Amino acid sequence: MTNLPKVYNPKTVEDRLYQSWMAGGYFTPRVDPGKQPFVIIMPPPNVTGELHLGHALTATVEDTLVRWHRMRGYPALWLPGSDHAGIATQVVVEGQLAREGLNRHNLGREQFVKRMWQWVEKYGHAISEQHRKLGASCDWSRERFTLDLGPSRAVRTTFINLYHKGLIYRSERIINWCPRCMTALSDLEVEHQDVQSYLWYIRYPLATGQGHITVATTRPETMMGDTAVAVSPQDSRYQHLLGQEVVLPVVNRRIPIIADDAIDPAFGTGALKVTPAHDTTDFEIGQRHGLAIVNIFNPDGTLSDNAGPYAGKDRYQAREGVVHQLEAEGLLERTEGHAHSVGHCQRCRTAVEPWVSQQWFVQMDSLAQRALKAVQQGRISIVPERFTRVYYNWLENIRDWCISRQLWWGHRIPVWYCHGCGHLTVAIDDPEKCEECGATDIYQDPDVLDTWFSSALWPHSTLGWPEDTDDIRYFYPTAVMETGYDILFFWVARMIMMGLENTGQIPFRHVYLHGLVRDDQGDKMSKVRGNVLNPLELIDRYGCDALRFALSTGTTPGNDTRLSYQKLEAGRNFANKLWNAGRLVLSSLEQSPPDTGTGHIALEDRWIRSRLAYAVAEVDRLMSEFQLGEAERTVHDFFWGEFCDWYLEMAKLRLRQGDFSPLQVMTEALDTSLRLLHPFMPFVTEELWQHLRPYLPEPPESIMIAPYPTASPQTVDTQAEAEMSLMMEVVRAIRQVRTELRLGTNSWVEAEVHAGDNVTSLSARREAMESLSRARPLTVLDTPLRERPTHGVVLVLSGAEVVLPLEGVDLSAERKRLENEMAEAEVEISRLEGLLGRDTFRSNAPAQVVEREQQRLSSQQQRLERLTRTLGLIGA
Ligand SMILES: [Zn+2]
Ligand SMILES: [Zn+2]
Repeated sequence: MTNLPKVYNPKTVEDRLYQSWMAGGYFTPRVDPGKQPFVIIMPPPNVTGELHLGHALTATVEDTLVRWHRMRGYPALWLPGSDHAGIATQVVVEGQLAREGLNRHNLGREQFVKRMWQWVEKYGHAISEQHRKLGASCDWSRERFTLDLGPSRAVRTTFINLYHKGLIYRSERIINWCPRCMTALSDLEVEHQDVQSYLWYIRYPLATGQGHITVATTRPETMMGDTAVAVSPQDSRYQHLLGQEVVLPVVNRRIPIIADDAIDPAFGTGALKVTPAHDTTDFEIGQRHGLAIVNIFNPDGTLSDNAGPYAGKDRYQAREGVVHQLEAEGLLERTEGHAHSVGHCQRCRTAVEPWVSQQWFVQMDSLAQRALKAVQQGRISIVPERFTRVYYNWLENIRDWCISRQLWWGHRIPVWYCHGCGHLTVAIDDPEKCEECGATDIYQDPDVLDTWFSSALWPHSTLGWPEDTDDIRYFYPTAVMETGYDILFFWVARMIMMGLENTGQIPFRHVYLHGLVRDDQGDKMSKVRGNVLNPLELIDRYGCDALRFALSTGTTPGNDTRLSYQKLEAGRNFANKLWNAGRLVLSSLEQSPPDTGTGHIALEDRWIRSRLAYAVAEVDRLMSEFQLGEAERTVHDFFWGEFCDWYLEMAKLRLRQGDFSPLQVMTEALDTSLRLLHPFMPFVTEELWQHLRPYLPEPPESIMIAPYPTASPQTVDTQAEAEMSLMMEVVRAIRQVRTELRLGTNSWVEAEVHAGDNVTSLSARREAMESLSRARPLTVLDTPLRERPTHGVVLVLSGAEVVLPLEGVDLSAERKRLENEMAEAEVEISRLEGLLGRDTFRSNAPAQVVEREQQRLSSQQQRLERLTRTLGLIGA
């Protein structure tokens, strides 16, 4: 027997093989000017990251594409890296300091940044190590970190170029502000939550001293920052008040009543307070009407001196105080319950404050235009295509990008202010003096850049830009950017803009967007729901190949996938199936005499070669269209459904008779299947292939660098396929009857096959049919079936009629049983039809429940059909 262990144990295989691939240097491509490279830059996970299923899906898809191209002979580069993840990392280290009773302010910037680096050096490699567990064939020798010297230089170079072109500017604008993290946040870093709160109706007395206008607001505490009251220009209720002034309660400031289209007359009273410093819409109204901006918050969320009596108070205390005061002064008309969405800091869960502040921005118009054109002209394709419209839409309505963050961790803004002349020196290398007046009394901008600024440069900064390196000349533009559809704007669009701006070339030719990994119910995985699956635990339990199989089976670009334990089990079962088939082939090879040579070629040999050729062509087509899930399913179905279930079963009969002629085809088909499957399930395929290697002509050292199977149309053998399908039809039909009549595998039945013209072909396969259908004796006759037998089952097939006399089987009892089951199914069907027919059920029950009942109904209907058919087969 072969020295292959009986059962496939991923634990004894995966790390060992990964080490051997690393030692073989296969992950590092050789620069070959004669060949076009295939390049994927890995989306850099956060350095604080813990491997989750999203990473696992990304890595599975990318590794599959890279391994596929590598086997096809491309110099394939998959460049890994990690992102310093500004706020995410800073919050982690701040948490650590808090436990020591410290904070970043009493530590000071320099010491704090030192602590940050200590943290990164200690924990920052975890995510790379975890990627190795997934079998990721990245070139670790080219691994990059966003704060590395090269990428940092790319950041400064870009900033300076854009600044000198006038595309980076500083301005006072409204941004999302986290009062705990005390920094601006991007829209991506803000999570919206529905909050149950109130709508307060407040009377603003008219300046004439006669009457008032009532405004409705969810934020009474910001009223000290109001600089107008606005109504809709169409609102007839307020026409007479336009141009008048009100006296703002609490601070007694006079502000105008204005008309603006942004006001919805149906909300509240139709009159709204306008607070340009603390609301995005109000800021825009303020811009249109030239209103003053009164900022009433300090950076930490307490109220500023502009808030009069509430200066120094926390924003929620101020709310309470203002409401009490209004009530006491008779200005609070009423209060009603109101649910609305409030932005929260993604990192620390504090309610975010829209806040006007001085920030750095990138002017997006011209950059966006070029990025738009690159896709419109087809230089970059987005897979799936439907996201192209989403991309256009975003770029056509783009706003300027706020790139400054009030953090200490990240790329510091390369701008130095002169105390003397006020000039801004913008430089790649830290300057010693003001470039305008030469004064040495200069200081650097304290802010850092948005993390997405450096990630926007990732495809070229990782390859050495702005230096003119061999890597950037050879590997850029890259081939595929593979990432989640949720960061199409934040990241993909910005990479396209910056790639074009900095290098004059597109950064990648294809954008492949994958969906979310959901649980088996289709729900998002979240800690709150408690349905989060940890990929490392799944690898430990099922093996890496099984996890990769479960993640990629059924995956189509852009669609969410569901990960279930059944899929994981199916992955593990498939690895075991491969293993068992491999053992059979290997043990047969070991037992065969050395001079077996090429024996005769049987029909099944021709058939499996033809089916294999078909599978190879299909996989090639599907992979080229990024239909990885379908490609994998094709290999799976070929291997399990055709190679194992039919071909190996038939080959075994020959081997048992000492006929070793199928060995060559067995070896060929196993080798080809393993190579087809390797990009998807790298470990089990390599392990088996290493055992098969001695039997292959001039094999390379590893399946990783063995050529990927290519389609050859001449191997498609239509005659063999037609003859095999005749035989398979007979076997399947007999098996079907056996199942439905619940005949155990040990009870053999007799069969008569009336083959007509197909008698020669079917006679030649008689023994195989006997063994596969467990029908003995199985007689093949050239006579047609003349009359229905008095007992037994008749099967009318496309190429033959089959009679199973079933002597000794009590068919009347069988008929009774079928009839009972049919009655049962009918009762269930009428109950479900009644339920689903009721409008109240359809409109009141949750969609999943309706869907579940619908499925029940159709499965009962199928059951009834099957039972009716079986009953019809049983003779008198
Ligand atoms: Zn925060
Ligand atoms: Zn100066």
